[in-house]
Amino acid sequence: MTTDFEKEVYKMLYNNSIVFLKDGIERLVNKDDGEVDFIEHDLLTLTCTSFQISIELAIKALIVERTGIRNIIQENHRSLSDASIEELFKKNQLKTLDFEVQKNFIRKRKFIDDLTKDDFKTIDEFQIYRNRIVHFTYKFENGDLYDMKYDMVYYLIYIVFKILLSHKHQDEKPSEFLQYSLGGELHAKLIRYQPYIAAMKKLAAQNSLKVFNCIVCNNRTFSQDEDYCYCCNFISDVFTFIDCDYCNGKRSVIYDNLNIGNPNNFNETRGLCLNCDNDGIIYECPECGIARNIETRFHEGCSKEKGCINK
Ligand SMILES: [Zn+2]
Ligand SMILES: [Zn+2]
Ligand SMILES: [Zn+2]
Repeated sequence: MTTDFEKEVYKMLYNNSIVFLKDGIERLVNKDDGEVDFIEHDLLTLTCTSFQISIELAIKALIVERTGIRNIIQENHRSLSDASIEELFKKNQLKTLDFEVQKNFIRKRKFIDDLTKDDFKTIDEFQIYRNRIVHFTYKFENGDLYDMKYDMVYYLIYIVFKILLSHKHQDEKPSEFLQYSLGGELHAKLIRYQPYIAAMKKLAAQNSLKVFNCIVCNNRTFSQDEDYCYCCNFISDVFTFIDCDYCNGKRSVIYDNLNIGNPNNFNETRGLCLNCDNDGIIYECPECGIARNIETRFHEGCSKEKGCINK
């Protein structure tokens, strides 16, 4: 991507991709009952189409960003000057390549390292639904109405997001990206939608050795390795963790480090184990900073004799 025009085209494609993504998510969480497996036929049709249009635009944006606009337009337009291409674009006459060609382009060049063969098969499936829906009709089987809801959310999080988050957004977590793109209100609905929670649980478990309960959204989607909740974006960096005496979880008891320093609190505050849900009163020694649960370690004082390095 070199010219200002290409930057503009990239932005438009990317933003349009988000428009369809948002449209699909909004309709899904507002009209579907996340507690049951069944989804209405028409809702399934519309959601599949929105997600597929979103990925098609995201792939186009990706190609423009990495290689310039000529790789998404038809052969006979490619030898034209930049100015003529821009001119055609402005007149809405610029013809683009089929999605099939663009999909194979990013596959061959491995633009997204972690998209697997199976992921591309899934993209093929959704491409078929979308093409049939748009050009004729796609009749989902009765069984699809019970199976496809979770597949669709999987498609969204594991495949569509990988493309949208590639390159410049790669440090962003899926739910951070979603909260930013969808806005607070829709994001709040989404994080209560069961199929989304299930997909985020899986993703957290794949990316983190230890996954705990989140103190904010109550889902088991808090990644200890990343100090971050995959579902609601809770970041635990202002809190402190100690080991749990009940379940022996390593760094699984969370407590508010700022709160404990307040003199009225006698250096004590409530702590909660995100692994086993047991709580207790945590005492943090103001001298050495070592903390312990005084309900389970009542007799262990913090003094010079008992190990406090500062007394
Ligand atoms: Zn959470
Ligand atoms: Zn525990
Ligand atoms: Zn001490």
